[in-house]
Amino acid sequence: MRIGVIANRLVLLNGDTAVDVERASQGRFPANPTQLFDTWDALVEWVNTAEPDGEPVPIDQLQNPVPAPSQVFGIGANYRDHIAEAAKQAGGRDPKDLIPDAPLIFTKFRSSLAGPHDSIPLPTRNVDWEVELVVVMGRRAQRVTEQDAWRYVAGLTVGQDISERVLQLAGPAPQFSMGKSFPGFGPMGPALATPDDFTDPNDLEIGCSLNGRVMQKSRTSDMVFSVAKLIANISAVCPMLPGDVIFTGTPAGVGAFRSPPVFLKPGDTLVSWVQGIGELHNTVIAGPGYSGDETRDDS
Ligand code: ZN
Repeated sequence: MRIGVIANRLVLLNGDTAVDVERASQGRFPANPTQLFDTWDALVEWVNTAEPDGEPVPIDQLQNPVPAPSQVFGIGANYRDHIAEAAKQAGGRDPKDLIPDAPLIFTKFRSSLAGPHDSIPLPTRNVDWEVELVVVMGRRAQRVTEQDAWRYVAGLTVGQDISERVLQLAGPAPQFSMGKSFPGFGPMGPALATPDDFTDPNDLEIGCSLNGRVMQKSRTSDMVFSVAKLIANISAVCPMLPGDVIFTGTPAGVGAFRSPPVFLKPGDTLVSWVQGIGELHNTVIAGPGYSGDETRDDS
């Protein structure tokens, strides 16, 4: 089952068509995306048994399928190939030394979340991309085991953990949560796909391209801490609530670790995908405070 949001209303997606959830269910299920998880189990059962149909909705402008999670968890250093590029950048250190013993967890504040077609406003010239698989929780999870963890997952979507690298790494303790929380720094979408949509939800191709050039391409099976391990680890401390999301970390190919480094510029187009879910198409623009002096042509 794939669910999305169009014109601020929940829709069921089937290939290139969309059906309004509230109308097709004759009011049994809500239109408001913030109420999606109030009736999640009944909705899944209805979709699987009633095979709902209805008047198709134009599908051109999908929005963030989970616009208002209570909590947003982010994971750092969770792909082996990304840790290897970080080790190389750090003067050729042994990547094994940089693999964390436990997940590195931060938050993206909720005001940073955005939709699959929204623009990304740049605050500075040090802004980078990180395509990520985003896990959406379907029920409250507290101290769940790795074995049980997938039962608490509503589905998967695509996310970009856009990051301002100077602020992220400034000061005596890194400021991951602030450097990754400017407005528009958390595009998500285009759909929420339930785990049964995938042959193996632990092994999906993931990637992104900048202006048509592939910058990241990997598989989610390269994660250091699997989706199930992340849920067990986070829920051992924080009860996870229905609708909460986890940005599960990014593979190799970010801009900061390239030689020379590459950062986002106004006018860039960033396309991000995960196999079986779909694509984000985000245009980069100059945000408040952005100075384009370095690239200005005064001649
Ligand atoms: Zn990230």
